Amino acid sequence: MEMIETRFRIEQMDCPTEERIIRAALGGMEGVGDLEFNLIARTLTVRHEPGRREAIVRKIGGVGMSAVPEPGPDELPVLQVIQPSFWRKPVTITTAIALICAFAAEVLSWLPTGEGSVPVLVLAALAIVIGGYHTATKAWHSLRTLTLNIHFLMILAVAGAVVLQHWTEAGMVIALFAIAELVEAQSLARARRAIHSLMETTPTHATVMRHGEPHAVPVEGVALGEIVRIKPGERLPLDGTVNAGSSSVNQAPITGEAMPVPKGLGDAVFAGSINGSGTIDYEVTHTAAESTINRIADMVEQATTNRGRTERFVDRFARYYTPSVFGMAVAVAILPPLLAGADWSTWAYNALVLLVIGCPCALVLSTPVTIVSGLANAARHGILVKGGEILERGRDLRAIAFDKTGTLTEARPRVTDVLPMSDIAPDHLLHLAAAVEARSEHPIAHAIVVEHAVRHEGEREIAVADFEALPGRGARGLVEGITVFVGNHRLAHDLDVCSPLVEEHLHALERQGKTTVVVMTEENVIGLLGVADAARASSGDAVRQLRAMGLHLAILTGDNAITTASIADPLGIDDVHADLLPADKISVLRAIDERLGGPVGMVGEGVNDAPALAHASVGFVMGAAGSDVALEAADVALMDDDLLKLPTFLRLSHQVIAIMKQNIWIALGLKAVFFVLAMFGEATLWMAVFADMGASLIVVGNGLRMLRK
Ligand code: ADP
Ligand code: MG
Repeated sequence: MEMIETRFRIEQMDCPTEERIIRAALGGMEGVGDLEFNLIARTLTVRHEPGRREAIVRKIGGVGMSAVPEPGPDELPVLQVIQPSFWRKPVTITTAIALICAFAAEVLSWLPTGEGSVPVLVLAALAIVIGGYHTATKAWHSLRTLTLNIHFLMILAVAGAVVLQHWTEAGMVIALFAIAELVEAQSLARARRAIHSLMETTPTHATVMRHGEPHAVPVEGVALGEIVRIKPGERLPLDGTVNAGSSSVNQAPITGEAMPVPKGLGDAVFAGSINGSGTIDYEVTHTAAESTINRIADMVEQATTNRGRTERFVDRFARYYTPSVFGMAVAVAILPPLLAGADWSTWAYNALVLLVIGCPCALVLSTPVTIVSGLANAARHGILVKGGEILERGRDLRAIAFDKTGTLTEARPRVTDVLPMSDIAPDHLLHLAAAVEARSEHPIAHAIVVEHAVRHEGEREIAVADFEALPGRGARGLVEGITVFVGNHRLAHDLDVCSPLVEEHLHALERQGKTTVVVMTEENVIGLLGVADAARASSGDAVRQLRAMGLHLAILTGDNAITTASIADPLGIDDVHADLLPADKISVLRAIDERLGGPVGMVGEGVNDAPALAHASVGFVMGAAGSDVALEAADVALMDDDLLKLPTFLRLSHQVIAIMKQNIWIALGLKAVFFVLAMFGEATLWMAVFADMGASLIVVGNGLRMLRK
């Protein structure tokens, strides 16, 4: 039977232990397949047979949680449940009351009447009942699904303390634990908000020109192709292409770069950016939901589902950790009295302390929180990373391979030479080439089309049929009744139209550092074009920074060796591979990988380099904001053309891994300290819970550090 996917929102899903309860509950269910948990978004995506949705909701309800199916694309959205603010939530209030009761009991127990007095008993009992209610229900579900979780251990510890008549401690422990739970839920909520705040920048209404009149229209109601007018200082509500006026626009929400970018006729503009001092009209190219900024936010949220290596390790660790600690607690309670005749109640108490130490929540939570902060931080810098896994992989890279044209060099090269090789006027030659290139995505093609438009002010109509891109070589099309090929030297040889005279001219251009383009038919070469393809201003800095990080750098290009050397030499890159076909780039990547014994990242443009990018350990795409294909193809999409985003990404990757390691050591270190203290009978229950709460605060706070600017 065909399976469908439903995404459920589960508000109570705060801790990985709940994930395990749900897994256990849905595990054996008929017609239910893969489960994908996203603790940050509090969603669970289930693959299931149609018609099982109700049963799944009921099953999750059975373990004390409410699952709300998210509407499919063709359904009406369900009413959003409005969440009360943190301080108004019932659980915040009950926890506060429990803590006050526990404190009062503690203070009263210092009076001469002592621990056993009636007011102390009443207050402690209140703290336990009010503060422990939630923990107890979760413990009950854990018992029913036979997943040993921390709530169960906590209730066991509290019950033990009551039996041993440590009343005030039992009250304190449960109240502190309830607070620790709240803190964790809050920090998850903060990480979640960090992602949503990426989108909050887009206006809800657009000024749409209809019948020559401006109308304020909700963004959802604006159709593709409608004209939106933007006044100075306004934020753009939708993506589009400028068709009147000019201005400069701050695109920081998308690219992370606040420097205004000039925009004129035909330029792409993005929702969320802030207009400068001009007025522009632009044609809407994407619906509100599909706008670049929304897709970035969606992808970042999606990325949090993709677990990094560290996260998977911690999850696996936690699975064994809690049961082992439980086993140890049992041993500690039984063995010393049994074997050494030690005091039963003392060792029972020490065992209870161990139970409290069995909580892996802080440890398990801190990793996704760190990753999410890292992803959100990257997005703020205009770097879209497609998952924790990739963010972690950045640190392992040993080498970076660059595509040349449009990557190390300007995205907009310029035509400098138009050289007819037959009886044809230069303008006509340019026209034939531009006609073919109008359909190509290559940066060189763009240069030719622009040059043609400049010379003719867009007057001559460009018509082409039978267009075909020839990857790594050029392109072909039917213009004015003849098949015209536009491409590199290799293509001229493939067609067998090259001649010594042509080569002489080609080499002359190449020695000036120009990229050469041959325009030809199947019979002969019509002419040559020279394209100046200068290195980007940021290339030098980026290359220096990457080299300082110890990375090996290489250039992989389809262009010829002489032109490539003119770019590679000043940058000091000596591992140069020229004249490559797209498929060759993959084998070169593999060779570098083998030589260095480590993963290689590849930077390129999404269209021509897609196969190599997919093969590389991490595929970086430049200038992704304007291109849907690029946005999809990349592991890491750099929103603008700034190569310095590359070292920024790598530094971020190092930082995220460093923080996760710190967190693991802090969390485990504190546990170890309390383990030893408990063994020597020096730790009290409430100290253990307090330390656990402290550990949660420290590691989660440490993870959220990345959210700060
Ligand atoms: P690179 O971006 O490293 O140059 P590509 O595989 O994108 O590598 O292209 C290889 C070469 O093929 C280019 O350097 C260029 O000479 C030629 N080429 C590719 N597409 C075109 C095109 N549309 N017009 C002209 N030349 C092209
Ligand atoms: Mg290229």
